[in-house]
Amino acid sequence: MSSASKPKSTRNMKSPKSESTGAGTVPSAVQHGGSPLPHPHQPGADPVVVMRALIQRHLVSTLARHTGSATPRDWWIATTLAVRDTIHERLIATQAVHNAQNARRLYYFSLEYLMGRLFGNNLLATGLYDAAKGALESLGQNFEQVREAEVDMGLGNGGLGRLAACFLDSLSTLDYPTLGYGIYYEFGLFKQVFSHGAQVEHPDNWMVFGDPWGIIRPEYTQEIQIYGRVENVFDDRGNSRPRWVETKTILGVPHDIPIAGYGTKTVNLLRLWSSRATEDFDLAAFNRGGYVEAVREKAMGETLSKVLYPNDKTENGKELRLVQQYFFVACSLRDLLRRHFRSPGNSWTNFPEKVAVQLNDTHPAVAIAELMRILLDEHAMAWDPAWDIVTRTFAYTNHTLLPEALEKWSVALFEKVLPRHLQIIYQINDQLMRQVEARWPHDTGKKRVCSLIEEDGHKKVRMANLAVVGSHTVNGVAALHTALLKKSLFPEFDQLYPGKFQNKTNGITPRRWLYKANPRLSALISDKIGHDWVRDLDQLRQLEKWVDDPAFQEAFMAVKRANKADLAAQIKIECGVDVSPDALFDVQIKRLHEYKRQHLNLLHILALYRRLLQNPALDIVPRVFVFAAKAAPGYELAKNIIRAINVVGARINGDARISGKIKVAFLPNYRVSLAERIIPAADLSEQISTAGKEASGTGNMKLALNGALTIGTLDGANVEIREEVGEDNIFIFGLTVEEVEQLHAHGYNPWDIYHRDEELRAVIDWLGSDYFTPGEHGAFGPLHHSLLQAGDPYLVLADFRAYSDCQLRVDELYRNRSAWARQAILNSARCGKFSSDRTIREYANEIWKLSPVPVK
Ligand SMILES: *Cc1c(COP(=O)(O)O)cnc(C)c1O
Repeated sequence: MSSASKPKSTRNMKSPKSESTGAGTVPSAVQHGGSPLPHPHQPGADPVVVMRALIQRHLVSTLARHTGSATPRDWWIATTLAVRDTIHERLIATQAVHNAQNARRLYYFSLEYLMGRLFGNNLLATGLYDAAKGALESLGQNFEQVREAEVDMGLGNGGLGRLAACFLDSLSTLDYPTLGYGIYYEFGLFKQVFSHGAQVEHPDNWMVFGDPWGIIRPEYTQEIQIYGRVENVFDDRGNSRPRWVETKTILGVPHDIPIAGYGTKTVNLLRLWSSRATEDFDLAAFNRGGYVEAVREKAMGETLSKVLYPNDKTENGKELRLVQQYFFVACSLRDLLRRHFRSPGNSWTNFPEKVAVQLNDTHPAVAIAELMRILLDEHAMAWDPAWDIVTRTFAYTNHTLLPEALEKWSVALFEKVLPRHLQIIYQINDQLMRQVEARWPHDTGKKRVCSLIEEDGHKKVRMANLAVVGSHTVNGVAALHTALLKKSLFPEFDQLYPGKFQNKTNGITPRRWLYKANPRLSALISDKIGHDWVRDLDQLRQLEKWVDDPAFQEAFMAVKRANKADLAAQIKIECGVDVSPDALFDVQIKRLHEYKRQHLNLLHILALYRRLLQNPALDIVPRVFVFAAKAAPGYELAKNIIRAINVVGARINGDARISGKIKVAFLPNYRVSLAERIIPAADLSEQISTAGKEASGTGNMKLALNGALTIGTLDGANVEIREEVGEDNIFIFGLTVEEVEQLHAHGYNPWDIYHRDEELRAVIDWLGSDYFTPGEHGAFGPLHHSLLQAGDPYLVLADFRAYSDCQLRVDELYRNRSAWARQAILNSARCGKFSSDRTIREYANEIWKLSPVPVK
């Protein structure tokens, strides 16, 4: 229970161990069971033949499988192990180069990584895709079926976690020395199924049959302390010092996922922690005869990394969540210090020159207090030099302005879990309050808003304020979001720390979101402009040369048509709905959230349905409304919206009177691999959040890059997408941020619109009746209530008519095939800015001061 007995080796910061097993020496061929294996990159060797030999070898010697009885899963693992051989060689070489140069590194701290599948990406990154495909096919295997055997690594909720995954891809591709830190959740984001249209959650036991990408590193196990209390002890000069005692000990075991760059030898690591209880746990309790208690406590230690919290942009103050945050941060900092101090020339003096830490949102912000604690209590450093090191090390990315998403921990809970850290936070706050007093004398209002402690009512620690104060740079994730961050959320901090706030507009990796996800479009593009766009997305601008070329327009539309046919087949399998690939595919895929306004889309669908019922001859472009979205399990209104879309959709899909003019397909279990299937098939991208609410969005970028036209509000990165593609090539509608503010300031009343707009009133009433759920009254009561009685906080009614009118313009353009093709091509051609390579270069140059380190 106490930290009395420590495990061997793990606390020694100057551990001589090196990550790279024969540091500096790279084996020329992978050794396996003593005999050299063929190498797929060997000059003169036929890569297909070599891959086939490697796959067969792994099937037999690692999996003990006869080729005749191997399942797709076996083939997937055997092929993964075959490509892993090459990746591990490059990993060792990369780490050797970084260590030899004592390179400055980025350490990316994120509680979420939404990686998806790694197989296809790693095959492309290593140039072994065709070889593996050919090898598997020559062995009588269906390549697609083998790929489908891989379970998504879904260790994230949505955009924030996927951003971290895209960043890792770019960091390796651009040769930046990086280590990502996070948690190796045993259960990723839940699996979603529908039962009578309602969301039901199932656990995502993704690693139950093993994870061939994860390399366990028991030798780098870290031991951390938590809970306990602080007492004061006196040193030999009679000075009182705080000491954190009676703590509980938890072990963190790292699992390394290699991140291979595309078209380069760099392989960085994603290091994810799983928690373990210490052995001395049970000993102490055994001595007291408390066997069951001991085992329960041990189970607590192992519970910590069990499950990802399924809340996207809502914080609920749960103790285990704070424990998870601290566990991962404390393990990561210890590991990072071990790595820094193992290089002979390194010291605290050059620490901020060698180490850059990026905090992905406030989830890891407790790292600021933890590094202070290490410096003050474990290294007896004075406050000012310690604070100097901390504030030169950390930078923080803000992901949202939504008040419900800003993390706050009750002071009482913080004191229970991290008593020493709370003291340090109070001390940081004392210094901060002095600065505020110096800047705005006798202004208690300024002090109240800047304070790290929220004082009104129940006292709380404001993690965003801690992250701002403890970081040298704070960034927003799109131009509009950063402007609002400075103007509305942190105006005082912006004045107190001029220049601290920066913008870094999000991006997406072109490797996954175009090259891998859309092979047909990739081939068409490479045929016209060559292959360099994969590492330099701005090259897509060259496509503009053919924007008016009828043959290219036809080829572009044929690609889209083929992708839609694939998706139509998937929709038939998963939803049991027949849809035509000739219809307009209108796509809204993202977490289910009121601010993202899937219910605005639903009201428009209802309006169209009603128009068709009242006039079956109405001439509209046939449309398929495609949805995919998970709702947080405790978010009742979001779940109500899912059920409403499903139930209304089922009625529409089965109504022969409208002759299939509109269809609704809600694909279950939205995740990265599903996004990769839907996005290439989208004609229209729905980005319809209430202006000011979506920090950036990245789904908007993926869809535009794949040639979907956007219908959207002037929110998040939509603003910059409009700048890039041109205002004639995007459908913008609705209230602006300023208009939203005005409306709220003057008192918004949805009833006024309800009474004024006959069609809108009719569809809202329709939804509120039991028409779609016969015999079940009030099924959509929560949704109906939020739109009217609850005041329609996201202005769905206020934007409805503008949205509906804008959809008429979409309908009109789609009738002109050439005009639509032209705009779709321009969307693909002009999305180069939204490559995460651009984003990462900006972070590297303007925040991290990080240089590429090529690996030869
Ligand atoms: C890109 C992505 C997101 C983010 O989508 P937004 O539309 O930006 O909210 C969420 N989930 C998955 C699986 C993604 O791939």
